[in-house]
Amino acid sequence: MIIKNRSETYELLCLRFLNARMNLSTKDLNNYLNLEKGYIGELKFDKLLLENVSDELLTINDLLLEYKNTFFQIDSVLISKDTIFLNDVKNFEGDYYVDGDYWYTISKNEIKNPLEQLKRSESLFRRYLHSLGFSTTIESQLIFINPKFYLYQAPMNEPIIFPSQLDHYMNKLNKRAVKVQDRHMKLAEHLVANHIKKSPFTRLPSYSYQLLKKMIMCKRCYSLNVVIQEGKFVICKCGCKEEIDAAILRSVEEYRLLFPERKVTTNDIFEWCGKVKNKKEIWRLLSRNFKVIGHGKYSYYIIDNSR
Ligand SMILES: [Zn+2]
Repeated sequence: MIIKNRSETYELLCLRFLNARMNLSTKDLNNYLNLEKGYIGELKFDKLLLENVSDELLTINDLLLEYKNTFFQIDSVLISKDTIFLNDVKNFEGDYYVDGDYWYTISKNEIKNPLEQLKRSESLFRRYLHSLGFSTTIESQLIFINPKFYLYQAPMNEPIIFPSQLDHYMNKLNKRAVKVQDRHMKLAEHLVANHIKKSPFTRLPSYSYQLLKKMIMCKRCYSLNVVIQEGKFVICKCGCKEEIDAAILRSVEEYRLLFPERKVTTNDIFEWCGKVKNKKEIWRLLSRNFKVIGHGKYSYYIIDNSR
């Protein structure tokens, strides 16, 4: 049973939007591409679980917790009656090798040892559970999801699942999937309630409203090279076609995420969306979907939760 769904982190969303609207530095671009790739890998793992593993396991996708001022993140937590499985999913591609405690790409660039990260998270998670008075067996696994990944000199006795071993791992999980008790459900709910939404390690470049490119962004390929068809649809070369009103509302969400301190006004949304619709239509759309504060020139919109 899925207790918490996965969605893009705040950092990934911001970088995705910014990448379309400004030139990111090489460092920010690499960070963005890694996050995007990691996210795709995690979704792939979620799908495998959903299709192959019994619904009896309580599934928490993406969990960021704090224990004694230390943050730790787990990609996927599976709670069974007698064991909690922690999965760290890596979407690495290409050839890597291990030399002792050190991991490298084939071109000899050292990377963070993912096993060390896994062990650190497991240890913190164990102490966190202990502080809640919950004791159970914890098993953690490093999951390599990409079939184009190869690890030379892979250590044999480490908790690593390679792509060819995923089937076997799913079978193992299935065998452990028996109905959980109330205390497991309560634990799952506690973990989700304590999930930290905005990571303190978020790295974003500085940006300003004025300097970002204004246009509707394609929802599928995140490009701004879209055209408007008959004033009704946003069309992109990637084949994506979206109704313009939906695309504008989506752009408002993007604007609100990037500029939480700015007010949502008709003028700004008109400009933010690349002036693809006239102001009156934007005004009508915003009025229908948000609560208006103030009048005329100085009015702005807020989310109306009562609707
Ligand atoms: Zn597209």
